[in-house]
Amino acid sequence: MSDAHKGYKGEALEVLDRFGVAVWNDVEIESTRGRFRGIVLPRSEFDDALHLVLKLETGYNVGVDVRTIREVRILGSKEAHYKIPEKEFPVSPDKANVKLLGTGGTIASRLDYRTGAVIPAFSPGELYGAVPELADICNLSTEKLFAVFSENMGPTQYIALARAIGREIESGIDGIIIGHGTDTMHHTASVLAFMVQRPPVPIVMVGSQRSSDRPSSDAARNLIHAATTAATSDIAEVMVCMFGPTSDEYGLLHRGTRVRKMHSSYRSTFRTIGDIPLATVTRDGVTPLRDDYNRRRQDRQVDIVPTFNERVTLLYYYPNMHPDILDALVEKGYKGIVIAGTGLGHVNKPVYPAIERAVAAGVAIYMTVQTLWGYVHMFVYDTGRDLMAKGIIPAANMLPEVAYVKLAWALGQTEDLEEVKRIMLTPICGEITERERHDGYLVFQGGMPEMAEFLKRVHK
Ligand code: ASP
Repeated sequence: MSDAHKGYKGEALEVLDRFGVAVWNDVEIESTRGRFRGIVLPRSEFDDALHLVLKLETGYNVGVDVRTIREVRILGSKEAHYKIPEKEFPVSPDKANVKLLGTGGTIASRLDYRTGAVIPAFSPGELYGAVPELADICNLSTEKLFAVFSENMGPTQYIALARAIGREIESGIDGIIIGHGTDTMHHTASVLAFMVQRPPVPIVMVGSQRSSDRPSSDAARNLIHAATTAATSDIAEVMVCMFGPTSDEYGLLHRGTRVRKMHSSYRSTFRTIGDIPLATVTRDGVTPLRDDYNRRRQDRQVDIVPTFNERVTLLYYYPNMHPDILDALVEKGYKGIVIAGTGLGHVNKPVYPAIERAVAAGVAIYMTVQTLWGYVHMFVYDTGRDLMAKGIIPAANMLPEVAYVKLAWALGQTEDLEEVKRIMLTPICGEITERERHDGYLVFQGGMPEMAEFLKRVHK
């Protein structure tokens, strides 16, 4: 395929050929659906063969079905350059020093129109070029640790990230931002909350649901909020900083062990589950919603506990699950299993003997609830009591993913199952709470009247 027709194939390529059109041509298209004027954009090799994509003057891209095209007039040619201008990030002695550790994801991306791929771009100079407000907030330096979409994060990256945080704290940084894909940000947030204990500075995870080339992107606002938090907040915990309500009024800071991505495409996708968020954040500052948090300190003490046993898994129970799934896990050498059970923490009777066999083989099995809100209660029904008698340990109100990473982290430290149990059931950073606040359920509806009501009461 020639560069002039980059990404076009099949019927779409035939139409380009017929009218002598190449990518980057400024064209006017006459179609059965109306007239369109714009620049012909390249397509990615994965796109379909039926559309010609135009960038309109408004900045939006439209796909025109080539079967509707009657006439294409070439008006000129304009190759677009999407390089973000690099500007020297200004440093001022009275501003906090913040480090951005990049792992990848949409936040570190912009669309490359040549290939249609999303490519990373985030040196301090590029960030300053794209979001100049950052320089009013802090002195920013950056380090790209990885460039992966977050489904590719795993123990190697978790450990490298925890160690990098330890190094930054030791070298005197005032706050840390971690740029991360949103899909698994809540896994990494809870892993880091366990691996980096009692940090003296804020550790703020941030991402974006929409890349920065899109008019509705949340990248700049989330970054500004994350920088404000890292530079000025008194809350020295691992937090997730993302859009609050569906409008862009404020961001929310969520405790790393109680947060979850709850919507596949909304920008306001992160929600604190079973509790209330730590704080709201605007470009003017952070307003805590509670006071039971780890506070910022001047010392440089922090315990980095970078352990992770990879033979741990999370099993999402469904009715009629067959017991051989558990047997297979034991056979493959799994050492820990977290089950997300139904209701208060249940699985079906046929699975019981397999659980007994797994426990007898020395596998640690913990129960969580797939309802997400609420506690495991295995005393209520005799089925729950039976399960406990077989050795399943209820994991209170730990979220299933959090119990999974905590078990992997604990089994990375010791194989003594009594010690593992002590670690699992001792709250370290809010992953188990004594009670669930009644309003910790309403906050989920963020942006709707419940959230506004709640803030009216708490903000005073
Ligand atoms: N798939 C991307 C990721 O999680 C989406 C995002 O960055 O939000 O890495």
